Amino acid sequence: MKNKKPNAELIWKQLEDLLVPRLRLSVIDRTVYSHLLRHSRLEGKLRLRFSIQWLGRNIRLSTGPVREAVRRLAAQGALRLVQRSKAGHVVEVRLPDEIRAVRLNRIESRAAAKEQGTGACAAVNIEEADFLRSKPLRKAIHARERGQCFYCLRRTTPTVQCLDHFVPQARLGRNSYRNLVSSCMECNVQKGEKAADDFLRRLYRERRLTATELAARLRALDALASGKLRPSLAIDK
Ligand SMILES: [Zn+2]
Repeated sequence: MKNKKPNAELIWKQLEDLLVPRLRLSVIDRTVYSHLLRHSRLEGKLRLRFSIQWLGRNIRLSTGPVREAVRRLAAQGALRLVQRSKAGHVVEVRLPDEIRAVRLNRIESRAAAKEQGTGACAAVNIEEADFLRSKPLRKAIHARERGQCFYCLRRTTPTVQCLDHFVPQARLGRNSYRNLVSSCMECNVQKGEKAADDFLRRLYRERRLTATELAARLRALDALASGKLRPSLAIDK
């Protein structure tokens, strides 16, 4: 069973729709996972032997962040570390459906959808809602920003849009609409664990924002945190 080639189309959809939001994968984590998956399960192999250098070279990232991402993915159960040595890592790469946290979430959301009669946003309590949890809720955040990156104001399209935590997750930022913004991938990666206002000032120093835009963005940050930027939930039609 383990050596059978899986259904790549299904896995791709599960990766985008379940794994990334459920495990809250960063752009780097997601790239590392996809690359490992491509060289293991998509080739019909359960295990993969690789070195961090090989991985970093292939996905054009330095070894530090790549090593961190492998560690995080293992901690979240997306990878099982079989062996780690100077020569490299041996991992078992789990499909989205085989990861415990992803499976549990699917069961929960099916139960919740049944309870509500409809799957979508029907009875969402906006203050308590986890906006990474379902596609309509994620879309609501993107719709609020009207196709612009919250930070650099560039136009974004669905392929380069991400949801960014205004207070980084590492500092216990929640998935509330008050803590999520729609951003371009570049800002998502560059902001990383930095505070949002510092990051905006950096964009100004790099002349990617004017002084007026910076002031408006800083005001938008305050509005966001105080709950004034409520997304519209009437998007599930
Ligand atoms: Zn941006």
